[in-house]
Amino acid sequence: MSDQQPVASRATTAGTRPLQRLSGSCHCGAVRFEIETDFPELTTCDCSICRRKNALMVKVHEDHFKLIAGEDALTEYRFHTGTARHFFCRTCGIYPFHRKRVMPDHFGINVFCLDDFDPAGIPVRHTDGVGMK
Ligand SMILES: [Zn+2]
Repeated sequence: MSDQQPVASRATTAGTRPLQRLSGSCHCGAVRFEIETDFPELTTCDCSICRRKNALMVKVHEDHFKLIAGEDALTEYRFHTGTARHFFCRTCGIYPFHRKRVMPDHFGINVFCLDDFDPAGIPVRHTDGVGMK
């Protein structure tokens, strides 16, 4: 019996980072939230809205997202199919997170809204959003 079977999927860097709980906020501080993730990857997107926001995002399940403050401060923008919900602060205009269209139980988080976030070493995946408009 061999216990030396190579496991090909272990070769990826996914899951090698520690689970972190980070807080984030918009610029004026009205919107504050917390996420928990091990940052398996960051994503950019070239859809019409992400391109303009120049957003670098991390995806988290809604169970790992907590809005601490600012529900009243958030304004929502929908376009195209109207499924994705793009939130921004009505005071400072910053985009802190959005509800995903393809996976509506997930949030896309603007990583530059996170306190003390260091993107070093985390792979960045460029997702193709042009087809999503
Ligand atoms: Zn704000």
